Amino acid sequence: MLFRELVDTYERLEATSSRLEMTEILAEAFRRFDPAEIRMAVYLTQGQLYPDFVPLKLGMADKLALKAIAFASGAGEPLVQELMRKEGDPGLVAYIVFQSKKQTTLFSEPLTLKRAYETLEAIARAEGGGSQEHKVKLLAKLLSDASPSEAKFLSRVITGRMRLGVSTMTIVDALAVAFASKEDRDAVERAFNVSSDLGLVAETLALHGLEGVKGIRVQVNRPLRAMLAERMSSPEEILERMGGRCAFEYKYDGVRLQAHICDGEVRLFSRKLDELTAQFPDVVAGLKRAVHARSAIVEGECVPVDTNTGEFLPFQEVSHRRGRKYGVHEAVEDYPVKLFLFDCILKDGEDLTDKPFLERRAALTSIVVPDETVALSEIRLLSSPAEVQAFFQEAIRDGCEGLMAKSVAENSVYRAGNRGFLWIKYKKEYRSEMTDTVDLVVVGAFAGRGKRRGLYGALLMATYDPATDTFQTVSKLGSGFDDATLAALPEMLANDRLAARHHLVDSKMEADFWFQPRLVLEVRGAEITLSPIHTCCFGAIRPDAGLAIRFPRFTGRFREDKEGRDATTSQEILAMYQAQLKRVE
Ligand code: AMP
Repeated sequence: MLFRELVDTYERLEATSSRLEMTEILAEAFRRFDPAEIRMAVYLTQGQLYPDFVPLKLGMADKLALKAIAFASGAGEPLVQELMRKEGDPGLVAYIVFQSKKQTTLFSEPLTLKRAYETLEAIARAEGGGSQEHKVKLLAKLLSDASPSEAKFLSRVITGRMRLGVSTMTIVDALAVAFASKEDRDAVERAFNVSSDLGLVAETLALHGLEGVKGIRVQVNRPLRAMLAERMSSPEEILERMGGRCAFEYKYDGVRLQAHICDGEVRLFSRKLDELTAQFPDVVAGLKRAVHARSAIVEGECVPVDTNTGEFLPFQEVSHRRGRKYGVHEAVEDYPVKLFLFDCILKDGEDLTDKPFLERRAALTSIVVPDETVALSEIRLLSSPAEVQAFFQEAIRDGCEGLMAKSVAENSVYRAGNRGFLWIKYKKEYRSEMTDTVDLVVVGAFAGRGKRRGLYGALLMATYDPATDTFQTVSKLGSGFDDATLAALPEMLANDRLAARHHLVDSKMEADFWFQPRLVLEVRGAEITLSPIHTCCFGAIRPDAGLAIRFPRFTGRFREDKEGRDATTSQEILAMYQAQLKRVE
């Protein structure tokens, strides 16, 4: 298959912002693509080389990519760098310089998708001494055989800036339309949620159709997408929704871990499917001791504990472990943790995702012998609001965030990758004014003044609205940052910089800088108010106003485990606003 076919599709995708049109363009392309190569095409469309859980990532430094562009086009580095300052996008730079080159040079042989993909793979894999020059050479060679459009997308994908505006779920829609029908979308989405591998789903569909995809099951050492919870504000509401009776568990405040255990080996994955095995050798050893099964996938929340008092410590203590490559052993001693298991997704090779919750819990209990590192979550089956309230108080007293309600109905299956009412979180903020935190995504920033000159003065923060797939602004965040964090922000956000507002960001404010909605910050506010300038739930309470968070403060916690779309939803803010009102009345 020629790389041009894929690039033509990208050009068409870039020309539209309608999700429906994107779906049609992709579906039509998927049908045309060679089934043996569709996997590569899907990963590249996602801006990556492999599924999320494979650690090898694209992301060549701009500097190196620009070097290769300069070399392959013959444009020279000063010109390329100047264009980069102007355009801010290596893809556009490549497009411009290759267009002028093509007027004087003849095309060489056309690029195939396989060659493009394999070269990108070789670049991503190159490491060690001399690897930088090697990467530049590989890319330059590839670019010298590329058309301007091909060079544009190669330069974007290699620098981690694909940004076609195509969401994972749009690719899922398109795959269903291309190889089955719209009605079969759920089966396709399920296959993605249990495998976390869109390339595999595409290839299976293209080769074996819908039946093939229905056969995709949970597998050890391939993390599945986490099941998520809805939120409600009173025990009465929760019990009513759950049919009068359900399980309640402590809601621990730590890091979610998905543990894959097979023949004595243990691997740990985060909620975002990153592998965390190396950061938690103590948890790995604990699971080896505590879990008695040939193979298993179990899930739990990992919480820092004070070994002297047995009390939980603030969540921040676990974050010392995240992203650490060195000093893990010191971290294990300085910040001991305990894993509270709450689900069993696979036991001795059997996929339990279709089993009701209590059956999965029984499976979990049957294979775990708890000890000081691995425990089972506190759980109770309750049916009266008073009992729930009492259990909630116990949870708070024991340092938890609140409770997780879990349906025990026949249909209480493990819904990978889904947020629904089978799990409902009940957190403390609904009991009082806005004392709890929300997770907001950075969509823009304002230039700093005075002491903050040259840095960001404030960030424009947004909630996520799943109904419209947009990010709605809810506050301007300027406090709670220490000097080091303030100084580090421009660098942290450098790769997310956009020339204009992201098309999914709904804002009435003009920020000085705009970003890809990716970085999620935990924010504490004093209260939620109506505001004419913020777009969160605009019109929901009053036709001319949205909702805003007053006196927001960064808590110091970057929610690295969340993506833009995992931010607090606009509807959650609305529910919090309404709960406040109830309190005031
Ligand atoms: P939130 O991050 O506020 O959306 O709440 C959902 C998270 O709570 C899950 O992703 C888990 O990391 C965490 N959690 C803590 N305790 C439990 C529990 N008993 N059952 C399920 N999730 C839990």
